[in-house]
Amino acid sequence: MHHALPTGRWALALAAACAVQCAQAAPDDHQDRAARLVGQMTIDEKIGMVFGQFGAEHQGRQPPAGSLAQSAGYIKGVERLGITPQWLTDAGIGVASQPGRNTRERTSLPAGIATAATWNPQLAFKGAAMIGKEARLSGFNVMLGGSVNLAREPRNGRNFEYTGEDPLLAGIMAGEQIRGVQSNHVISTVKHYAYNDQETGRNHLNVKIDDAAGRMSDLLAFQIAIERGNPGSVMCSYNRVGGVYGCENDHLLNKVLKGDWGYRGYVMSDWGAVHSTIPAALAGLDQQSGYPFDKSPYFDGALKEAVENGHVPQARLDDMVARILWAMAANGVLDRPVRDASREIDYAAHARISQEDAEEGIVLLKNQGNVLPLGTGLGRIAIIGGHANKGVLSGGGSAQVYPRGGMAVPNEGPKTWPGPMVYLPNSPMQALASRSKAKLDWHDGKDLAAAAAVAARADVVLVFATQWTSEANDVPSLALPDAQDALIAAVAKANPRTVVVLQTGTPVTMPWVDQVAGVVQAWYPGTHGGEAIARVLSGEVDASGRLPQTFPLSESQLPRVKLDGLGLPKDSRFDVDYDIEGAAVGYKWFDLKGHKPLFAFGHGLSYTRFTHANLNAEAADGSIRVRFDTVNSGARAGKAVPQVYVSKVGPGWEAPKRLGGWDKLALNAGERRASTVTVDPRTLAVFDAKSNRWKIAAGDYRVILATAADAPVQTVTVRLPAREFAAGAR
Ligand code: BGC
Repeated sequence: MHHALPTGRWALALAAACAVQCAQAAPDDHQDRAARLVGQMTIDEKIGMVFGQFGAEHQGRQPPAGSLAQSAGYIKGVERLGITPQWLTDAGIGVASQPGRNTRERTSLPAGIATAATWNPQLAFKGAAMIGKEARLSGFNVMLGGSVNLAREPRNGRNFEYTGEDPLLAGIMAGEQIRGVQSNHVISTVKHYAYNDQETGRNHLNVKIDDAAGRMSDLLAFQIAIERGNPGSVMCSYNRVGGVYGCENDHLLNKVLKGDWGYRGYVMSDWGAVHSTIPAALAGLDQQSGYPFDKSPYFDGALKEAVENGHVPQARLDDMVARILWAMAANGVLDRPVRDASREIDYAAHARISQEDAEEGIVLLKNQGNVLPLGTGLGRIAIIGGHANKGVLSGGGSAQVYPRGGMAVPNEGPKTWPGPMVYLPNSPMQALASRSKAKLDWHDGKDLAAAAAVAARADVVLVFATQWTSEANDVPSLALPDAQDALIAAVAKANPRTVVVLQTGTPVTMPWVDQVAGVVQAWYPGTHGGEAIARVLSGEVDASGRLPQTFPLSESQLPRVKLDGLGLPKDSRFDVDYDIEGAAVGYKWFDLKGHKPLFAFGHGLSYTRFTHANLNAEAADGSIRVRFDTVNSGARAGKAVPQVYVSKVGPGWEAPKRLGGWDKLALNAGERRASTVTVDPRTLAVFDAKSNRWKIAAGDYRVILATAADAPVQTVTVRLPAREFAAGAR
């Protein structure tokens, strides 16, 4: 096939990658079309497409003409060739707005971590398809999510945007989000590549990690998300890795992403993550974003000069533009112009989609004496704290979606970005009131003694505890802020029939856990979060979320007892040593060290009872095929999440076991269903950096059917032959 681009070094890299088996080997029609367009462009037109500007006012500088109000970014098009401009919006839970006067009000999904907690890939797709539709109807053609940084560091302020600590779960859920967004002919951007796993010092910190360990953890999450979702773009991250900034990191961009994985789309920088022209261009950055967040317009005049004087080959500039045009062509962005048609958005239907996602993401952590679901015979329910009489919390920063109907609780949190702290106007208390005959007593929880007195009079107490997390800031500890631990302890002392409903972005510690009857993790539950919480508490739907992140008992169980860089002056340069745990992230670290967590990865109770039987596993197609039955042996309908962990008999792995697959099943009372789960072969392999290949060692492997990482149900052993495959294969 005639195929003019890319040429030179980049063509060789692509050819080499595809020779070792990449998913998208042959040049496709979109690449041909991109090449033809590049062939007709002037150098100024090309430069225009690789230089992105922020879409809102920044430090007194006005956004470029043509950008959309309070938006993340704008990139010029080439009108004479019919190439549309790119209008960029954040992000993972809906159409976000930069703070300011013209914020748009849109539907918000629950946080990414809540969607991950559904363990339901169809819901991840459906929610993302909904927000992608709102993006398109709002005039955007590029969305800056799926977000798949691994929750390696539970204090990371952005964990709420991500999909948990396990690379398989995180990758699959984010991959479905990407597919969902792109089903609207809107480009999705997987981010932040790579290892941007804490916010403290994010602009300059240096991650130390062995490459093989990275391929089996953080990079595997990206790899799976990319192969499943095929995103048009990848956002490189702020931090350094191996001493080199993410956006000029030849290893991560040219070698792993574009080489080993055969990635065809473009790499855009995070806002302010570019530090050079020539090194960034040669390392594989394809588009500078969000100027003037960077110190210089590196990919504007300076790049043109570098191409003209030969420091950056013409072919590299052509490759950058061809990649952008490929993503635009492959996703229909070139052929389906966007326009603002926000009046056509069906907010009622979209709220229902968000609610469905929130309901399945809510995790019932503890339910002593079946305190939940709330019975119909209750006389008085005390509702305390968390502004539950007004709304539900959301996470802050660039992903902030402003709610229709305005902010439920004004003037909370920081006055400047990453504030404000936004409560969405969907009150759990009102939602409960509309479905309960009980008298609901409200207390704001500020005065402990008064709150305890209200609690003492009630049949059941619901304490709403919140932890606002945001971009740019990590939480200093996993404790709930604002003396809420003391509030919960006081209330539980007054009435042991206390249920704590958590709205947090990441795990919290629970010094009161033995004093309360119930704990419900509701994360940030989105536009209809109040309804979702009420439906789970009242048992209208089963509690079917499962934890995508381990809840530690205390920080002393973590690989880093203290966050690196805490308290250092702004722009300090320091190392974060991920070689401590390597690929043993989350539950793998807990297994390795023998730590017993507060609540394990995969944990979550249901209102019904499931039993599992007939576990059977066999070597098949270079992996393991697992079969088992699940029976709903309780009295009501519910949803089970049987999990398959694999464990190598003998040494060689970073940790005792890995999640190899799972199923999510809706079962009526008495219903039995068979599941077949094919283990992802990379979860049976070790990445060998020397040969750049995955290697499955010959030998015995345990297949563990479980209901959580610490709750095995049945185990069988399978013998596997040796197998190896390329870095980009499976
Ligand atoms: C964030 C990105 C976001 C970008 C644009 C950056 O601060 O790290 O996730 O997409 O801003 O708003």
